[in-house]
Amino acid sequence: MENIRFKALSAIMNRQPLRNQAEFRCNVEQFGEMTFGLEAMKKFLTEEAYKNLINSIERGDKIDRRIADQVAASLKAWAISKGATHYTHWFHPLTGNTAEKHDSFLDPAGDGKAIEKFKGSELVQQEPDASSFPSGGIRNTFEARGYTAWDPTSPAFILDSTLCIPTIFVSYTGEALDYKTPLLRALNEVDLAGKEVCKFLGFNESRVFATLGWEQEYFVVDAALYAARPDLMLTRRTVFGHASAKDQQLSDHYFGTIPTRIMDFMKEYEYEAHRLGIPVKTRHNEVAPNQYELAPVFEEVNLAIDHNQLMMHLLKRIAPKHNLVVLLHEKPFAKVNGSGKHNNWSLATGSGKNLLAPGKNEKENIRFLTFLTIVLKAVESNSDLLRAAIATASNDQRLGGHEAPPAIISAFVGSHLSQALEELASAGKVTPELKAELDMKISKIPGIMLDNTDRNRTSPFAFTGNKFEFRAVGSSQNCSTAMIALNLIMADQMKQFMKEVTQRIEAGQTKDEALFGLLAAWVNESSRIRFEGNCYSEEWKNEAARRGLSNHASAPEALAAYVTPQTIALFERNNVLNERELRARYDIKLERYVMELQIESRVMGDLATNHIIPIAIRYQNTLIENVKGLKEVIDNKTFVNLAKNQVSYIKEISEHISNIKIAVEEMTEERKKANAIDDNELKAAAYRDNVKPFFETIRHEVDKLEMMVDDELWPLPKYREMLFAH
Ligand code: ADP
Ligand code: MG
Repeated sequence: MENIRFKALSAIMNRQPLRNQAEFRCNVEQFGEMTFGLEAMKKFLTEEAYKNLINSIERGDKIDRRIADQVAASLKAWAISKGATHYTHWFHPLTGNTAEKHDSFLDPAGDGKAIEKFKGSELVQQEPDASSFPSGGIRNTFEARGYTAWDPTSPAFILDSTLCIPTIFVSYTGEALDYKTPLLRALNEVDLAGKEVCKFLGFNESRVFATLGWEQEYFVVDAALYAARPDLMLTRRTVFGHASAKDQQLSDHYFGTIPTRIMDFMKEYEYEAHRLGIPVKTRHNEVAPNQYELAPVFEEVNLAIDHNQLMMHLLKRIAPKHNLVVLLHEKPFAKVNGSGKHNNWSLATGSGKNLLAPGKNEKENIRFLTFLTIVLKAVESNSDLLRAAIATASNDQRLGGHEAPPAIISAFVGSHLSQALEELASAGKVTPELKAELDMKISKIPGIMLDNTDRNRTSPFAFTGNKFEFRAVGSSQNCSTAMIALNLIMADQMKQFMKEVTQRIEAGQTKDEALFGLLAAWVNESSRIRFEGNCYSEEWKNEAARRGLSNHASAPEALAAYVTPQTIALFERNNVLNERELRARYDIKLERYVMELQIESRVMGDLATNHIIPIAIRYQNTLIENVKGLKEVIDNKTFVNLAKNQVSYIKEISEHISNIKIAVEEMTEERKKANAIDDNELKAAAYRDNVKPFFETIRHEVDKLEMMVDDELWPLPKYREMLFAH
């Protein structure tokens, strides 16, 4: 019998370089050539249709049916000119992936011929039988229909000869079944409220929108090694594996030279990304061996998220061409860094201003301080929701692990800005003198910012000069949950701001008094979530507890924030999700948590029983044979001395085997008990408290065996192989 691990290793050694990479260089003309962007629209649409579509994109105007027919015809003509044969509505169901159902442009015409068909109605709306997507009980099977509806703010694109039309996905009764619907609703509220705040501060803006620049971390592993790791295949993480003698201790991987095969992979995905209009800009090695990062230039949130989803798809699809598999899991390998997806976020205006950037004059700086303070207050009031938005079983393995932000939500603004805020907070009644003093200080802000080069890498929510960086988002997540939460709380806080300044003015305060008074109050109130120190430290945990901040270590605990009366009211008053939709999402997230742990637990049991124990026994038998043989050839006295070590080695192996067996049996029992629980909250808690603890126990025993058993017998590719083969 051949050892599958050695087969995989020899496959790697016998590999030839794949192809000439010269073709994978995107020139300027090719950028975005596979998207129906402005240029293609101009070329393929009538002037009337073009204008109508642009208004719809920029102002959210409704597109009428006649125009939709024209757009569909042009879209089809464009797609076919690019070699497309099929079309699909492309949406973000609550599985976290994207979904597509392809239809051919060709329609049999009945006389043995076919015509090419794609009408406005097919562009604007479709009715996929989507009863197998998670809906959290919103759709019963008798009303299994879901509707997808065109989102013209994200351009259609061609992927694998298929025209993909970004859409929202809602139920027959109008409830959201996807991520995009509530996201667009939250962004709409940001627009409305943002314009009001700008107006109050003396700026008339046509539009306020949120921007997102994500940084995607990922691991790659050789495809042959991957195929020999059932745990990677089924759970995308290694449930066993002793640490490699060398991994990231020397910090020699971070920003190091990119290995050739990886570089070829990167060139190809960058090429495809650029043709799809994804502005990928940065690529580098990350901290752990075989861990990398890619980041585009920031875009409007909705588009940036579509691009991130598309990018994750491209990574997974292109890697196998290079005999690689991409792992987007937050913690594929124990004891080395996990992967996150920093979400750089800010607000911008139609006139091109970044609302979180210090300005050129006093008025702009007041605007900056106002928006900054609103963000801090929003985070302070809703930190539990932000924590909930990033809660998943896999992100639990990364958060708080001395390599990633802790589960405590705090914000970092830097010492200089912190000081400026403190001064603002301690300012009393706004007298003319005080106003003059504040103005002077505020006008100095850009200078302060330039000096402010200190950056805190440990904070989950850090201000980095002209944007906030939400660092707790997991690498495999759809950014939408984080972006829905962040933009929703921002919209809500902006509305609150308008309400409170108006009340103050109605009570007789001047505009300045009202503004500075409110900012001072909010700076004070939000000081409990501001933290400038090391968020990975024990001191911060204690300090945060003293400040009364939550520290939800596990996803089920954190997710509960989705259904508190406060959250439900927040979502409802901003028309983002109603209580039913919110509860459905909560249930889906809990179910997902349970299923992930359930699969991991089964994989662990299977592997331990079918892969590890048989090999350990085989090796143990060799040792036993060896001892027996020694006894035959050596005199008894010498043998007794010699055999002591051998026998204790055999005993040690026996103990590990027996510990594994016992733990797997007990874990299976606990799993059965947990599976019998109907209530999702209790079931998730049972998995967390009664099933998951066995993972560590079993792993510990298996990893010990890995160090004892003959390397030639060990069936699972080892960490040193998976992390260093490239
Ligand atoms: P790093 O965090 O690695 O030090 P930078 O701070 O230079 O890198 O930028 C990180 C990301 O922030 C980039 O992807 C960039 O596109 C994004 N970014 C820059 N400005 C904004 C903005 N106004 N809104 C959203 N994202 C932004
Ligand atoms: Mg970053």
